[in-house]
Amino acid sequence: MLEDPDELAVLEEIQQELVLQEQLVIEEYERSLQFDEECLNAMLDGLDASDKLICPVCRRNHLDVRNHLVSCQCGLHIGTQGMTEGKLRSLLENTLTEHSHRCFHNPEFTVTTGMEEEASLLMSCPVCDSWMILL
Ligand SMILES: [Zn+2]
Ligand SMILES: [Zn+2]
Repeated sequence: MLEDPDELAVLEEIQQELVLQEQLVIEEYERSLQFDEECLNAMLDGLDASDKLICPVCRRNHLDVRNHLVSCQCGLHIGTQGMTEGKLRSLLENTLTEHSHRCFHNPEFTVTTGMEEEASLLMSCPVCDSWMILL
């Protein structure tokens, strides 16, 4: 018995779709593996210092640190790459320690926003006249 050519075409289409879907699943799986690794790293960092980071700009709220975004209720909203709470903590600590070696003033943290540039976190000190972009 001959099969309906239309039906064959449909079957072929389904087959192609299955192959495509399989590729998508594999890609998704690889992506999730990478994500797991990031989660693990974030967790390990979190173990070192379990208390939340305080936003250096408003010094009131907790910073929400995600892989691609650091944000705070005060309006701080900075795009990052592969950021973790631990990384940001040591970045802040290192910068503050480094500054304290040459100046006794407590530096200020501000967020800069240009028209076209992305927002960035700036540490500046009017006493020793220095500034540094942290994020
Ligand atoms: Zn804040
Ligand atoms: Zn200073």
